Amino acid sequence: MKTNYRICSQCVMDTTDVKIKFDSRGVCDHCCDFEANVEPNWHTDAVGKEQLRSDIEKIKKFGKGKDFDCILGMSGGADSSYLLHLAVKEFGLKPLVFHVDGGWNSDIAVSNINVMIDKLGLDLYTEVINWEEMKDFQLGYFKSGLPNIDIPQDHAFVATLYDFAERYNIGYILNGGNISTECVRNPLEWIYYGTDMLQLRHIRKKFMSNPMKTYPFSSVLRHKIYLAYVKRVKVIKPLNNMPYIKSEAMSFLAKEYGWRPYPQKHFESRFTRFYEGYWLPKRFGYDTRKVQYSSLILTGQMSREEAIEKLSHPALSDDEVRKDFSYIATKLGIDESELQLYLEMPLKSYKDYPNQEWFFNFGAKVFKFLGIERSIKR
Ligand SMILES: [Zn+2]
Repeated sequence: MKTNYRICSQCVMDTTDVKIKFDSRGVCDHCCDFEANVEPNWHTDAVGKEQLRSDIEKIKKFGKGKDFDCILGMSGGADSSYLLHLAVKEFGLKPLVFHVDGGWNSDIAVSNINVMIDKLGLDLYTEVINWEEMKDFQLGYFKSGLPNIDIPQDHAFVATLYDFAERYNIGYILNGGNISTECVRNPLEWIYYGTDMLQLRHIRKKFMSNPMKTYPFSSVLRHKIYLAYVKRVKVIKPLNNMPYIKSEAMSFLAKEYGWRPYPQKHFESRFTRFYEGYWLPKRFGYDTRKVQYSSLILTGQMSREEAIEKLSHPALSDDEVRKDFSYIATKLGIDESELQLYLEMPLKSYKDYPNQEWFFNFGAKVFKFLGIERSIKR
């Protein structure tokens, strides 16, 4: 451990986030941002309830006489699963439920999606990403040396969501994103924007050969400006308008649907499990559990002591890492020695390649000024 190592006195974010700042109490800027900008505008009380009621009314009005009134992306994770339950059973909505199959679904994810779809009597729209393209895209990211090698999966999800919304002319997107478990956000240095098309194009040109004829691409301009303001597609996050306790939601889903919990957030994808559980901490020293646990600490769902204890063990055991390492290499069609080479190559940052960070920063400032975003990701 380096001598200038420091950890926040309130959460578990530390100097592995190189841009972290501490105030005189030793409290980090993630905590301060939450207290100053997010918490005061977060209404899980009657105000939130009224907001949600009004949103549901608008969605129903929009969907009158139509097959669907909103769209919901299902990963099989806790947030989207619980939201799907609420949408159908509590709100009485008619969501178009879609899933993006990027080739890395865990058995638990498949089972969780199926049990919910079956019990709720819904149809599932599955978008299967062309595997040869996905494989080449992911290999391109490994070769780039960048931290965020999960962009090929993330981007496909976002692009498919907006494609469906546009194709079926659906005005509302239900999003399971929530303050309760995500109020601390991954630093940009760890997980850079997956919709920076300039950087994506550069990575494709430099490290890939596949022409990517069917992979779904979507620029941030298209979905944040064109679809949001021209086509008026609205994103609604109902989990922010009610008390949302993740452990309770998971127990409920297990009891009600036979849904199975995951050992860690985002572990519904085998690739993401390997990437967040092993690759990022091992290669870069970035442990996304610090972000997840810090969110739970700030919202009263985990003690700091418990988080520190959990962080003292790696997310995956040596045995799990060995199996995953071999699985990932085989599936990507490379030798383990090649994957090892990518693990050990010089570290790169998004700043090392052409990027549109200025544009994202500018957009974030405008959105904050307009009150659309409460805090700025950094
Ligand atoms: Zn903190």
